[in-house]
Amino acid sequence: MEYYAGEYDVVVIGAGHAGCESALASARMGLRTLVTAMNLDSIAMMACNPSIGGPAKGNLVRELDALGGEMGVNTDKTLIQIRMLNTKKGPAVRSLRAQVDKKKYQERMKKVLEIQDNLQIKQAEIVKILVENQRVTGVVTNLGAIFKCRSVIVATGVYMKGKIVIGEVSYDGGPNGLFPAMQLSGSLESLGVKLMRFKTGTPARIDSRTIDIEKMTVQPGDEHINTLSFMTGELRLDQLPCYLTYTNSNTHEIIRRSIHRSPLYTGDITGVGPRYCPSIETKIINFPDKNEHQIFIEPEGTETREMYVQGMSSSLPEDVQLDVLHSVPGLENCHMMRTAYAIEYDCIDPQQLQLSLEHKRVEGLYFAGQINGTSGYEEAAAQGIMAGINAALKLKGKAPLILDRSEAYIGVLIDDLVTKGTNEPYRIMTSRAEYRLILRQDNADLRLTQKGYEVGLVSADRYQRFIEKKTQIDKEIERLKKKTISMNDPVREYLESYGSAHIKSGISLYELLRRPEISYFTLDQIDEEMPQLEMEVAEEIEIQIKYEGYIRKQLLQAEQFKKLESKRMPQDMDYSSIKGLSLEARQKLKEVNPTNLGQASRISGVSPADISVLMVYIEQMRRAKKE
Ligand SMILES: Cc1cc2nc3c(=O)[nH]c(=O)nc-3n(C[C@H](O)[C@H](O)[C@H](O)COP(=O)(O)OP(=O)(O)OC[C@H]3O[C@@H](n4cnc5c(N)ncnc54)[C@H](O)[C@@H]3O)c2cc1C
Repeated sequence: MEYYAGEYDVVVIGAGHAGCESALASARMGLRTLVTAMNLDSIAMMACNPSIGGPAKGNLVRELDALGGEMGVNTDKTLIQIRMLNTKKGPAVRSLRAQVDKKKYQERMKKVLEIQDNLQIKQAEIVKILVENQRVTGVVTNLGAIFKCRSVIVATGVYMKGKIVIGEVSYDGGPNGLFPAMQLSGSLESLGVKLMRFKTGTPARIDSRTIDIEKMTVQPGDEHINTLSFMTGELRLDQLPCYLTYTNSNTHEIIRRSIHRSPLYTGDITGVGPRYCPSIETKIINFPDKNEHQIFIEPEGTETREMYVQGMSSSLPEDVQLDVLHSVPGLENCHMMRTAYAIEYDCIDPQQLQLSLEHKRVEGLYFAGQINGTSGYEEAAAQGIMAGINAALKLKGKAPLILDRSEAYIGVLIDDLVTKGTNEPYRIMTSRAEYRLILRQDNADLRLTQKGYEVGLVSADRYQRFIEKKTQIDKEIERLKKKTISMNDPVREYLESYGSAHIKSGISLYELLRRPEISYFTLDQIDEEMPQLEMEVAEEIEIQIKYEGYIRKQLLQAEQFKKLESKRMPQDMDYSSIKGLSLEARQKLKEVNPTNLGQASRISGVSPADISVLMVYIEQMRRAKKE
């Protein structure tokens, strides 16, 4: 029996990594928000690896932090280890990877939701979305409660028609033994939302008392602790280590011998899996010449014995999983606390969405996270904050916040999904970004804090810190440009100690710092006026100066890109009437309905010739309108 249970501006279906960011953004921007989850104890649950960040993923977390999101702050508060990856490479690919305490991560995020003004949390399964005249009006729970609202954000992750598969055994289920959401898919399909079937997998968890770390290589955290949030500042931490071991020919043989029992190869699994996060059996079959695969043993927290077996996600039968584990050095006697499994689930085709993540045909209906065909906490959270911001802006009668590919990895992520679509779980990577030298993790706050402030999500405190940091950077760079040094004994000694060429005449410290062997962190040896700056600020100054040429070149390329992005395209274009367009281009343009020429050029099947036709057509329309 359905009953009226209340009214909100925004209802968020799901309190995973996407839903939490959506709910907080919408509530912090002043909207009355309700966030629901199948089980409140699964709020911000890390169903897979106990880590946040890594290549490109670290950039996403820094970007949503700069916009006023929560994942970065929550990670720093529950950190158990942190490492800067790719330190030997350039700043464009350097990225932070944090190991967190999963339980504390969830507990703190739940608390943040509970104390947030304008936000209420409800344990409930949403089974139906109410729509009138192509506009959402509310949701209905499995207990018949009707919550009226003006906007719905669907962030249901891997729960919709979730099916767990372990060897020959499969059953309806959500992650970690939780219930699946079996009814919402039907409601979405009745609204004309096209669904896809994807799958992902997770490895076993083993008991730390039963592993032999002597047979593994310790992976400690970094001495200097960088943080994922710009708000955290200096951090002291007793870090927990991870451990590295390898599979071997015996492991590979066990898997090959049992592959006929793998649901991936018997066809029991039909959902499409993540290419960049393959199961161990897929790795063995696809890379037969590889003698060993890395396996990282990662602690799941400080108050648990559970260890995560990174690199060994699987859906092989449990008995085979045990044999595989016991074949790995250091795991010979390990006790498997949780069995690895695969989960198949419903998600949507993201090409049905606008760049704001609102559905093209149902107004007020937004989608964020794994349901959009992505894989990963960070990808989910990045979409979550954008869906929350845009749902709130729309209800305030304001234009959506769209970040383009030259402004943020978030822009690359959403544009890839909405414009190109995906036929497998999408994972962000630095190689997906054309302008990665200007989309570094170190400058995410300089790129995005102002935008977060303008939409009303960035707090006054965060904004003040951003302004102070920006001023410090600009002031110091100006000072280095003006401060010149000339050859004298201390300077000669300094240059020789770093193997740097003598200077013939006066040179600015700015010019000197462009020499690869000279570091900003040693300039105080020849410059007594050096200000005491935080490491993060000093690093930013050094990067901006040392990569100035490359950065300027990429900024010019981004300007070109923006020119095409600025060519708006009417949303009511009749592509079938435009002469000269290929048949495929007509179909794809009608399907995606791009908002600008740049987006049109990225649709697969739309050729440069089609873009020239469109450019001429848009110009003719513009002139006709003027006349
Ligand atoms: C088995 C497994 C393996 C994974 N492997 C990887 C991996 O290898 N690499 C990687 O990067 N990521 C992996 N992940 C993915 C990672 O967990 C997700 O990407 C991330 O959690 C997605 O976040 P989300 O917010 O979209 O959804 P989730 O975190 O799944 O949260 C969904 C939320 O929606 C709620 N919900 C669902 N349906 C309803 C409903 N009808 N009514 C109310 N509430 C509802 C749930 O209770 C939950 O709170 C894996 C996840 C699982 C489960």
